[in-house]
Amino acid sequence: MHPSTRVARAPGRAEATFGGLVPPIFPSTTYERDAVGAYPGGHSYSRDQNPTGEPAEALLNELEGGADALLFGSGMAAATALLDALEPDTHIVAPRHMYWTIRAWLEAEAAKGAWRLTLVDNTDLAAWNAALVSGAGAAQLAWVETPSNPMGDVIDLAAVAAIAHDHGAVVVADNTTSTPIHTRPIEHGVDIVFHSATKQLNGHGDVLAGALVSNETNELWERVRHQRGYRGAVLGPFESWLLFRGMKTLWVRVVRSSATALHLASALQGHPALADVLYPGLPDHAGHAVAVRQMEHGFGMLVSIRVVGGADAARRALNALELFADATSLGSTESLVEHRSRVEGVGSPVPDDLLRLSVGLEDPDDLLADLLQALDHATG
Ligand code: PLP
Repeated sequence: MHPSTRVARAPGRAEATFGGLVPPIFPSTTYERDAVGAYPGGHSYSRDQNPTGEPAEALLNELEGGADALLFGSGMAAATALLDALEPDTHIVAPRHMYWTIRAWLEAEAAKGAWRLTLVDNTDLAAWNAALVSGAGAAQLAWVETPSNPMGDVIDLAAVAAIAHDHGAVVVADNTTSTPIHTRPIEHGVDIVFHSATKQLNGHGDVLAGALVSNETNELWERVRHQRGYRGAVLGPFESWLLFRGMKTLWVRVVRSSATALHLASALQGHPALADVLYPGLPDHAGHAVAVRQMEHGFGMLVSIRVVGGADAARRALNALELFADATSLGSTESLVEHRSRVEGVGSPVPDDLLRLSVGLEDPDDLLADLLQALDHATG
């Protein structure tokens, strides 16, 4: 089935009592046992599993080609539940350019001795190999993110997964910026897919959610499930319902915003006020060939631009934008812009002339006109 058909006719959409095509919200936290103490509906307490989340879990699992999926109260709740389910003293290898709060958490916990951490250049396969060789003998995990937020680096998933598996490492891919419409990491050898479902999976900027999808239901996956229950990190019923509703339009939103992002990146490339346009859909982007191999239906809605004149020029351009809201996050209906290094603060590897654009669903030429007028202000 084509992904557009899959999402539009999502599983679990029918409601049994009245035959409604939209599933209900189940607010109950607790479920009644039968005479022998069993749970006839398969649910006991909503900290372990919330039935309203099941349609979204099933749909995401199907889109990613996984064995099982779990929803969480945020992307960070999903990431930390997974990382806290690792064996003690695991060696984690992660890219230097990645979503900064996960990197900050990895570094903070490594400093406390929770695991050993090696950060490598995103696209340097020899560096990934050397890092994994250095962890030989320990449990290992390779965390990848592609295209990376906000630099747009493309990691060759199949290559990193092959290297990691040679060294016995579990491979986790943050697929937030790609979505399963563009990339299905499990098909490239990845073991667990991670999402901030707050972004394009929901797509309307009104739900904080996270998700994990595993290629198999093994011991690690059971530990992750227990971590979710211990922390009560489940997604609540109302958010689960909104997420499922949002996911049914995933195809049209993702394809549309990616096409607009390519339109903007192509039009902005070579603009005299810009030092660079970072977008994997551009033929001369360093990761373009890999992106063409592992992405389809477009290259994502994240475009970063580097403004000639540094941080001040970037701020001037940002302040002149009218259609891009200066707000954090990405993947919503409206376009957003962020001066990323200022947000990430001291120690950020992001250059201070970079503006990250999250391209929304507005008219592509309206967005382009806004960017062009704003860049006129960059030179001051
Ligand atoms: N991964 C990526 C690529 C993100 O952009 C974000 C949030 O911006 C996260 C993970 C964290 O997700 P959440 O904000 O839902 O906790």
